[in-house]
Amino acid sequence: MPVITFSPMENELRKDYFLDRRVIIAVGRGKRPSDFKRDPAPEEDGKTCFFCPGNEEMTPAEISRVEEDGHWVIRVFPNKYPAVTTEEEEGSDELMPAYGYHEIVVENPAHSKSVSDLSIERISHVLSVYNERVEHMLSDPRVRYALVFKNHGRKAGASLSHTHTQIISTPVVPRLVKEEAEAVERYKTLNGSCPLCDAWKKEVGGPRKVWEDYHMAVFTPYASRSPMEAWIVPKRHVHDLGDLSDEERHSMASAFKLLLEKLRDGLNDPPYNLYFHVNPRGADLHLHVELLPRLSNWAGFELGSEIIINTMAPEDAAEFYRPE
Ligand SMILES: [Zn+2]
Ligand SMILES: [Zn+2]
Ligand SMILES: [Zn+2]
Repeated sequence: MPVITFSPMENELRKDYFLDRRVIIAVGRGKRPSDFKRDPAPEEDGKTCFFCPGNEEMTPAEISRVEEDGHWVIRVFPNKYPAVTTEEEEGSDELMPAYGYHEIVVENPAHSKSVSDLSIERISHVLSVYNERVEHMLSDPRVRYALVFKNHGRKAGASLSHTHTQIISTPVVPRLVKEEAEAVERYKTLNGSCPLCDAWKKEVGGPRKVWEDYHMAVFTPYASRSPMEAWIVPKRHVHDLGDLSDEERHSMASAFKLLLEKLRDGLNDPPYNLYFHVNPRGADLHLHVELLPRLSNWAGFELGSEIIINTMAPEDAAEFYRPE
């Protein structure tokens, strides 16, 4: 693995652990975590919420629920406006039906609460619900991948403010995931090891470490694309959520709670996206979660070059997230 040392240069061009993806860390622009603190969220407009208890009939037919004391605490149903379709038709590589499933997981019945407000035990349960749905989607041979992702806040693409996660399956492996899986193979040939196993081992001993326990590592990636980007990586080389033991899932839930609470309390709950990169069939991609707060805009340079300018050093972001 290449030796990476942090030096406080003004503008650094950094390369990702295994992808051919580069970012410019423009710390010369001098952003600190507190610069991203936003004003408290505006009051809600009082419209009827489809995801609230009592309005269950307003969503498509429920797929599953987890109950406690006779009330649901986690609820899964198809998206009312799916991005994909289960209609089967022949197609070609250039044009095929966007075959797949698009589901919603509501993790907290309380309208103005979020995942960060749940107990670690409940978040762990939520993670197993995500996995059940992913496994169900992948049991369909026409499905090649299922992405679990969360859009939190309007700027991150959430059209409804009630917290929820989406899962969309696709009939192809998405390009980014394919590139990651291919980069893993190249890295293994060169170094004889997994890039994410190497990354977490290095990062827990350095300035980008956020937190670790026996099972999980949390760090701000060396080539962070966004201020406050953070990754959760299981220490064991596992491929998907179903590979995690109960204890490992509990650790991952603790990591979620830590990161999301810090964002909520330290930056007034900014918009963020997070997603799970599970292993596509037949590959060897190490499961990881990428959390990207939406604190900057990707503009012409980013779109035209795919080189992202990040105005905050991940070393500063790690300091912000680190538990006292
Ligand atoms: Zn609601
Ligand atoms: Zn690994
Ligand atoms: Zn990834």
